[in-house]
Amino acid sequence: LKRLLNDPDLLESRAYVAGAWIDADDGATFEVLNPADGSVLTSVPDLTRTETARAIAAARAAQKDWAARTAKERANILRKWFELMMAAQDDLAVILTAEMGKPLAEAKGEIAYGASFVEWFAEEAKRIYGETIPGHQPDKRLMVIRQPVGVVGAITPWNFPNAMITRKAAPALAAGCAFLVKPAEDTPLSALALAVLAERAGLPAGLFSVITSTRSADIGKEFCENPTIAKITFTGSTQVGRILLEQAAPQVKKCSMELGGNAPFIVFDDADLDAAVEGAIACKFRNNGQTCVCANRIYVQAGIYDAFAAKLAEAVGRLRVGNGMDEGIDLGPLISVAALDKVEDHIKDATAKGGQILRGGQRHGNGGTFFEPTVVTGATQEMKCATEETFGPFAPLFRFETEDDVIAMANDTIFGLASYFYARDLSRVYKVAEALEYGIVGINTGIISTEVAPFGGVKQSGLGREGSRHGIEDYLEMKYICLSV
Ligand code: ADP
Repeated sequence: LKRLLNDPDLLESRAYVAGAWIDADDGATFEVLNPADGSVLTSVPDLTRTETARAIAAARAAQKDWAARTAKERANILRKWFELMMAAQDDLAVILTAEMGKPLAEAKGEIAYGASFVEWFAEEAKRIYGETIPGHQPDKRLMVIRQPVGVVGAITPWNFPNAMITRKAAPALAAGCAFLVKPAEDTPLSALALAVLAERAGLPAGLFSVITSTRSADIGKEFCENPTIAKITFTGSTQVGRILLEQAAPQVKKCSMELGGNAPFIVFDDADLDAAVEGAIACKFRNNGQTCVCANRIYVQAGIYDAFAAKLAEAVGRLRVGNGMDEGIDLGPLISVAALDKVEDHIKDATAKGGQILRGGQRHGNGGTFFEPTVVTGATQEMKCATEETFGPFAPLFRFETEDDVIAMANDTIFGLASYFYARDLSRVYKVAEALEYGIVGINTGIISTEVAPFGGVKQSGLGREGSRHGIEDYLEMKYICLSV
């Protein structure tokens, strides 16, 4: 892998704790694998609560000085970090594809997306405004200031090994917090590369630590139980989110949660069909279906159902599956055998309950964790794919008759992250957008992510928002100051 990089120092195999590159105290390591061929890329330290506690103590010490700096000073360092990321975009993308599998072009896109949060929050650092409030008594002068919450512990997933870290780290650091992240054990190298660049950007020691570890439950406990951590921010499954919320409760820690989704993608009979097919491909098959905002259930109105299904199957047939490092690949491998099993299980369940495979349906000839992009017609609310997030390249097509029917079906889930629909009738557009119980609604588009808009879910999809001017709120506390003159 080093040979593929212009700057081989970006491939770091030590953890970054308290501003130092370290091995585990006990020397333990774990292997990082390439999901495209199962090869071992390198090994990284398998840290425990002990090193984590050290990182937390160093973060506390560093955070006071960081918060006391001017916003402009913090912004300048973040801006430098952003510039270094963009200058190293190709190398960061190669590392990302190697450990995660997504096609190189998508990986480059993720680096730009990840860096955009650093750029955005470097700018927002300077706009953490307070308020003055007219006094409630003649002698009273009231003010509100906003201060950093303190030391933040983050746990992030493997599907966006870069962007899921920057989306949290950038607002935290911009606000004047210190930040520790335990990246997913599948993808620690992208996190470590970010730390290399943060150090080069001049971020003071201790403010950004990367805890590489397979002992995720232990690290999660340290974050929740160590009184120095003021806030937990997590992106991952709803199941783990619940565990963290429970563990954070005894100390009433602030929590931000970006959890699972089960996105409906609705195509009404007045939609532009070709645009809807294009949107569905982008929305469903991006990252091989492994994003929490990927379409999970595709609802198509009866009058256009067959036409849409045929067009979608044809477009899916053009998707090229292979090693993400190779030119022209649309879909890489799935992250793990467990992920592959889940996709297969959802398809088997769908066909056992009457679904018809229109395209794909099998493990791909490449072997490993490659899977054929799949379209199944005749999906129903009784199938697993209706209630569980498949997180893979499986598009089940549900047929519906009326607007009210589809709104009820779309909302019939514990999740509420992203939703999508295609329609042209203006009153329908408004009505449906307002009726969908989701944090995000994409209309006539399958791609909604950007650093300038608030990303987050309702119901059991999470707490808080990331990105936009609102994304920094999660890292700030309001203080009301009442002065008698
Ligand atoms: P995914 O299905 O995307 O892997 P997870 O919620 O299992 O979602 O994982 C997301 C992150 O949560 C990863 O960094 C993982 O190591 C971590 N994690 C898993 N289990 C726990 C736990 N019990 N406590 C804290 N973190 C955990």
